[in-house]
Amino acid sequence: MKKKIKEAFIPVGREETVRKEMISVMKEEFLSAREISGEVHISEKEVINHLHNIQKTLNKDKNHLKIIPAECRKCGFVFKKRERFTKPGKCPVCRGELIKEPLFSIK
Ligand SMILES: [Zn+2]
Repeated sequence: MKKKIKEAFIPVGREETVRKEMISVMKEEFLSAREISGEVHISEKEVINHLHNIQKTLNKDKNHLKIIPAECRKCGFVFKKRERFTKPGKCPVCRGELIKEPLFSIK
């Protein structure tokens, strides 16, 4: 089975630099994907991709990726089981669409 590598067009050196930058900003405080994208000047989609990679590589390390799960602003429902890093579109409880983004940090 062939696996398509999405990041093939980006040079490896650049990838690593971005990840290092992301790790250093996340060590400072909890940030949303949107805030991280502003800090390291890449799209939110790229931030999400990098977060997956960071989570994998950090497992070998002493550092851990901490996630504050997304939360519904209307009823307070917490998306604890959500493993994706993106903001959910709708609350399953109240159907509200005002969702607080998940926040990421490295401790
Ligand atoms: Zn809700």
